[in-house]
Amino acid sequence: MAQNVIKNLQEKGIDVQATIQMLNKALADEYLAANQYLAPIGLACGKLRPEVEEEFQKHYEEELKHAQMLKERIIKLGGIPLQSPEEWYAHTNCGYTKPTDYNTQILVTQNLESERKAEDVYLAIMKACKEAGDMVTYKIARNILIDEEEHEQDLEDFLNDMEII
Ligand code: FE
Ligand code: FE
Ligand code: MG
Repeated sequence: MAQNVIKNLQEKGIDVQATIQMLNKALADEYLAANQYLAPIGLACGKLRPEVEEEFQKHYEEELKHAQMLKERIIKLGGIPLQSPEEWYAHTNCGYTKPTDYNTQILVTQNLESERKAEDVYLAIMKACKEAGDMVTYKIARNILIDEEEHEQDLEDFLNDMEII
C-alpha cells in the first residue's frame, strides 16, 4: 500500500474502496480474457489458423500485462487483488466464453465480443476516475483501452480477411 497515494485521494473525497472494487472487477475480466485466448491455442482449425493462433498468443500476453497493471494499482490503493478463479467468476463484467467450437472464425468472433465489452468497461472506469479526479487510475485505464481497441481491430481484420479467402 502507498499511504500517501491513498491520503491524497481521500483528501479529494475519492472513495478508494469503490475504486479498488472497480479495478478488481476489471482484473477478473483480464484473467478470464487471457484464458479465453490461451485455451484454444493448439486446437484451432480453419481459415488463417497459424496467424490466428499467433495473434491469440500475443493477446494472451497483453491481457496478462493488463492484469499486472491493475494488480499494481489495487495494491497501491491498499486493496487485495482477487486471488482465485471463483472470485474472477463472481466479479467479472465481461464473463467467459468457453471455447467449444475450434473453428477460427468462431473463436475470433467470440474474442471480438469480449474485446468490445472490455472497451465499455474501461470507458466507464475512465469516466468515473475523471469525475472523481483520480487521474493516475484514469491513465492506467486509458492505456489499457488503447490496447483493447487494437485487439478489436486485429480481430475485425481477421474476420474481413476470412470473408475474402
Ligand atoms: Fe485486456
Ligand atoms: Fe484485449
Ligand atoms: Mg494484436
